[in-house]
Amino acid sequence: MAKVAAPILVWFRRDLRLADNPALTFAAETGRPILPVYIHETDTNQRPDGGAAKWWLHHSLHALKETLASRGLALCLRRGPAGETLSDLIAETGAESIVWNRRYDAAGIEADTALKTRFSEAGLIVRSFKAHLLVEPWDMKTKSGGPFRVFTPFWRTLSVRDDIADPYPAPDALTPFDASVDSLAIEDLDLTPARDWADAFSDVWTPGEAGATERLGAFLSSAVAGYSDRRDLPGQSGTSRLSPHLRFGEISPRMIWHETRAATRSKASAASAQTFLSEIAWREFSYHLLYYNPDLATKNYAATFDAFPWGDDAGHLKAWQRGQTGYPIVDAGMRELWRFGWMHNRVRMITASFLTKHLLIDWRRGEDWFWDTLVDADPASNAASWQWVAGSGADAAPYFRIFNPILQGEKFDPEGLYIRSHVPELARLDRKWLHKPWEAPAAVLDAAGIRLGETYPRPIVDHRSARQAALDAYQSMKSADSPALSA
Ligand SMILES: Cc1cc2nc3c(=O)[nH]c(=O)nc-3n(C[C@H](O)[C@H](O)[C@H](O)COP(=O)(O)OP(=O)(O)OC[C@H]3O[C@@H](n4cnc5c(N)ncnc54)[C@H](O)[C@@H]3O)c2cc1C
Repeated sequence: MAKVAAPILVWFRRDLRLADNPALTFAAETGRPILPVYIHETDTNQRPDGGAAKWWLHHSLHALKETLASRGLALCLRRGPAGETLSDLIAETGAESIVWNRRYDAAGIEADTALKTRFSEAGLIVRSFKAHLLVEPWDMKTKSGGPFRVFTPFWRTLSVRDDIADPYPAPDALTPFDASVDSLAIEDLDLTPARDWADAFSDVWTPGEAGATERLGAFLSSAVAGYSDRRDLPGQSGTSRLSPHLRFGEISPRMIWHETRAATRSKASAASAQTFLSEIAWREFSYHLLYYNPDLATKNYAATFDAFPWGDDAGHLKAWQRGQTGYPIVDAGMRELWRFGWMHNRVRMITASFLTKHLLIDWRRGEDWFWDTLVDADPASNAASWQWVAGSGADAAPYFRIFNPILQGEKFDPEGLYIRSHVPELARLDRKWLHKPWEAPAAVLDAAGIRLGETYPRPIVDHRSARQAALDAYQSMKSADSPALSA
């Protein structure tokens, strides 16, 4: 029997796509046989995926497997410590080279650095590539040569970079590795929740590269033009909803960057497109922060907040998680999250502000809940955004700026489209009272079929006194930070 040529291992991680996948393109250009691998890592210090992200991963792996199969390649799925699993595959196949795209969380960087050393020393060719970001964190520097701490100069610098290369197309020719290799089935990874929690996810999401490309196309052909005006209105489809696709690398930020510019060049929508790209830049900024602050999800970026007197009311936390706070816009957001694994950005800000300011609960509790329930739960954006809202983050909203959930609802969901769709028990309430049902006359509540405290909760905290308590807590933190001043 003829000897089978040694393959290149293409190790897929958070880059579940064929287009603009530099590691795959590199492998294809060598002309050697390719063995695509996904490892469910068990030795890692990386934070385990939450339930919603696991659901996404399950479906995304199916999509990747099918796409690879349509190109003649069989995805090899293994579970175990990455180093040993790769060593086994090398021994089984005679592979002489491994390629992957980089990750940026501290545990991922540490693991990859060790693996690169280990396999290079063993004589293999090991190459890693940039695929998850527009610019590597270490390639973005302030004028004085340090990392950025403020978004506006970061964006100003990024928006004029002319070295964001065009994306690679999916490789034309992929040579399969012509020998059978043992693989687990995707089902063996037990990624889908046992309960029926995620049932509605598939009503709104199509995980996988094709779903991602379709979503970008649909966004660029319609909503992008009105993005600046409509992006803050949760009752409308004004944003791209690309976040979970980006999280799992089913589409690259470079594709979004270049396709958005091409689709909106010299059109009235160019300004709106620029606002959209500045949001992509927030994602980059979050990764920049994570790279330079590996503990971003657990440690206050601003150490002053170490002295913040967080409370720990378990009942309040539960009411917030379940969308039972009695504040309709907050409850709508938390229920959207539970139902679809996603929440509109404006409402993420409102609900996060409510937890950290009205309920005085540590932002880390909220970050954890979002981590478990968001399909787009992202190590950089989730941590950076929670700290931003809490006031402890880089370039953060000042803690004393406290969102009023009633006014926020009235301003951004004026007709109550969003609230009515996620809090059905309030659906028949007139918009005049929808954002503050506890102020509605008894007859109005009656007519809308609402019994406060029974069909819908009364507010778990009073807005004005909660606001004052938050300001007092903030003041006490500041005093603790500068005892000399407070003396
Ligand atoms: C408390 C809180 C937690 C968050 N957690 C996450 C998270 O875990 N994962 C996540 O991807 N985003 C997170 N965000 C940011 C933002 O809410 C989502 O990226 C956005 O709602 C996704 O919807 P979209 O794709 O329609 O966004 P669009 O408005 O269409 O924006 C396009 C893309 O830009 C990026 N983006 C937009 N806004 C932000 C932002 N503020 N920070 C970082 N990137 C941004 C996302 O990748 C998004 O897909 C969080 C925001 C808050 C306030």
